[in-house]
Amino acid sequence: MANSRNQTLPARFALAFLVVAWLAGSAAADEAKIRLLIIDGQNNHNWKDTTPVMKADLEQSGRFTVDVATTPAAKSSPTAWESFHPDFSRYDVVLSNYNGEPWPAPVREALEAYVSGGGGLAIIHAANNAFTDWPAYNQMIGLGWRSPKFGDRVTLDDEGKVVRTPKGEGPGSGHGPPHPFVITIREPEHPITKGMPSTWMHAKDELYHGQRGPALHMEILASAFSDKAKGGTGANEPMIWVIPFGKGRVFTTVMGHAMGNDATAMHCVGFKTVMLRGAEWAATGRVTIPIPANFPTPESVRRDDAPGK
Ligand code: ZN
Repeated sequence: MANSRNQTLPARFALAFLVVAWLAGSAAADEAKIRLLIIDGQNNHNWKDTTPVMKADLEQSGRFTVDVATTPAAKSSPTAWESFHPDFSRYDVVLSNYNGEPWPAPVREALEAYVSGGGGLAIIHAANNAFTDWPAYNQMIGLGWRSPKFGDRVTLDDEGKVVRTPKGEGPGSGHGPPHPFVITIREPEHPITKGMPSTWMHAKDELYHGQRGPALHMEILASAFSDKAKGGTGANEPMIWVIPFGKGRVFTTVMGHAMGNDATAMHCVGFKTVMLRGAEWAATGRVTIPIPANFPTPESVRRDDAPGK
């Protein structure tokens, strides 16, 4: 044991080497992650509770690093808004959990430039209610929560063929009371939906109907039958769709209602999988996030917070 100091020295070098290697490895892993920015701050839903649910799901997938940009509260002064200028260029995808006042023109222009330049945009539930008077946003989302006079309505017939109802005709935007409903996949080969069962039961949610907009270049990935007995329209309403915007990709799902502290719809494994894969696709054009083993079946809702999941 006389030369124990000499024995520990190489050990220290080895340890230092391991630490350096580990740091380099984790830095590389972080670099490979998708940089996602959630925008919140105003919503007719409880964004203070729903942003953390989505942030945790995104981070736990291991595929994303997540920052949050929170706008000023409603009725804030122009000075308060001047401090809201997120640097979209630092991110691969922006996820909107925002439904509130118009953003200042420079922020709107920055988002347009970011998406048209190749950035990703993910629109969740009431985020498509926002910005009626922003033409580029309406192009990006395709359909929003708008009056029937605003634009066309798009539904699917039973064969999955797109049916356009001209503006001014048919119902405007709405939903019946929240209930569980079946999601029907319409594009089984799209990266977001590939591998999902052709129908699956979504947890209790608002089933949006009568969404309106320019609806150009929409690829509708999934729909849900809006039952008149449940306050619906009797038509297959779009639930998940994607739209190209310049070099960028926009993913929208109208699922994901939450009120108070009840985020049942967001705890649906189906919703969560759609959000993760939709955000990944918007960022990269590819999907690597797998369909989890506990994905909903055609008959059964699956929640990620269910006992014994
Ligand atoms: Zn809602």
